[in-house]
Amino acid sequence: MNKILEKNLLKKYPKILKDMYGPMNKTCMHFGIECADGWYYLIDGLLNCIQRRIINQKIEQVTAEQIKEKFGTLRVYYEGGDERIAGMVELAESMSGGICENCGCMNDAVGRTQREWIQTLCVPCAIDYNKKVKVGKDGKMWARVHKSRTNPNRAWTGIDEITPKKKGKK
Ligand SMILES: [Zn+2]
Repeated sequence: MNKILEKNLLKKYPKILKDMYGPMNKTCMHFGIECADGWYYLIDGLLNCIQRRIINQKIEQVTAEQIKEKFGTLRVYYEGGDERIAGMVELAESMSGGICENCGCMNDAVGRTQREWIQTLCVPCAIDYNKKVKVGKDGKMWARVHKSRTNPNRAWTGIDEITPKKKGKK
């Protein structure tokens, strides 16, 4: 996540993110929040709900150990809290599967890329993303968008077979 957004979160939730940018040998939070900017509001909302519950119910402070993307969805590892907070984290992690990690949109175009690095992206972002990645041995881009998860009836077959543009003629 870009540093401006990360610092914004740090300013808003200093207790949860107290280990952010801490020493590499002590905390995974050394690397900041390891996902793209599209999940900013999701993480902001999650941390907000968590901190509010801690203040209102006087329960054990939550501290984040690692916040990252794994297999296309958000993962939040932390200490402290209670069962309700565990439920909040579970919901946020589940919701991330329908929110473009790059731009944050939640429309029908959101799906998951396949091959190697799995990501939850919308179609325009996936196309953009494809431009930046290598072409597989079979000549196809290795990131491809699967069927929309928010609308299972809508399949994005067009994206499955992106053929790379050839760079000029020799
Ligand atoms: Zn997007």
